[in-house]
Amino acid sequence: MQGIEEVRSILANPKNIIITSHRNPDGDAIGSSLAMSRWLKKRGHRVMVAFPSEYPAIYEWMPDIEDIQIFDVDPEPIEDFCKHAEVSVILDYNSLDRIDKLGELLGNRQRYTILIDHHLYPDPIGDFILSDTSASSTCELVHRFIEVHDGATMTDLSIAACIYTGILTDTGSFQYSTSPALFRTVASLQEIGLETNSIHDRIFNTLEEKNLRLLGHCLANRMEIIDDYKTGIIFLNKHDFQVYDIQRGDTEGIVNYLLRLQNVHMAIFIRQQPTIIKISFRSKGDFSVEEIAKTYFNGGGHRNASGGYSKSSLAATP
Ligand code: 5GP
Ligand code: MN
Repeated sequence: MQGIEEVRSILANPKNIIITSHRNPDGDAIGSSLAMSRWLKKRGHRVMVAFPSEYPAIYEWMPDIEDIQIFDVDPEPIEDFCKHAEVSVILDYNSLDRIDKLGELLGNRQRYTILIDHHLYPDPIGDFILSDTSASSTCELVHRFIEVHDGATMTDLSIAACIYTGILTDTGSFQYSTSPALFRTVASLQEIGLETNSIHDRIFNTLEEKNLRLLGHCLANRMEIIDDYKTGIIFLNKHDFQVYDIQRGDTEGIVNYLLRLQNVHMAIFIRQQPTIIKISFRSKGDFSVEEIAKTYFNGGGHRNASGGYSKSSLAATP
């Protein structure tokens, strides 16, 4: 692993370390941040995990999640910590503009920067960069990083639970981006005693009634299929957000239902949020939604799963 010797020497004595991940953090962003944080704390470092915006309630059970600082809610502790942070760890994103004002804070000062990510087209913002777009998740890469750094099997069960959470959510429960290496990683997590079934239950089988009603509404009333373009669209307007009391994370996974249709190769999920129109794209096969998200919607992601936004009105969004 190129540069790991340098990382080892930087981390050889205690440092102040700021870990950040992207806006609207998902299971992989949260899992990789908490895994890294715990691993670094065990090695004697002072660590803060900071996200631009809040995380979904379904991840509330994760170890040390209550210590995460949210920039939108209270920037001050993060600003204070950043003044003394000597190392910055960037996880599950690869361009500082994905974390808004928090990015300005990180960009302002020279710090040793570790970037671990699996999205396309990384900016060169790390002294140490582990960027592998073929990896299922940033969590898979954090696991690889820890084992190479330590030269040993990772045996901490809390870290294992964090790693597994990111793998499970980013692969859509092992539907996408799987590989022999990924299954070997998961096998090693089970070998050290990780209970994988209970993690699946905590993440996927804890919905409230309103979540299934929202899904029903999306499929029955808000779904359009454009056969000629093999495209399915679901949209939600501001009114829907009120009626279904949609909170952070409540729309997660809905876009994937469109791909269940045989004739749909591209799925688009449009949400009218208070200041922007947020759009998720998914595709099957070789067709790249990343290009569409990047070219037209200020976004990016992966070939088959990307996101972006528009500042136009819902009606004017192309
Ligand atoms: P989702 O549609 O689930 O929000 O995101 C799908 C993928 O696209 C994720 O890998 C996410 O990081 C990426 N993504 C979502 N929104 C944006 C965005 O506004 N900009 C960029 N660069 N990537 C995004
Ligand atoms: Mn990810």
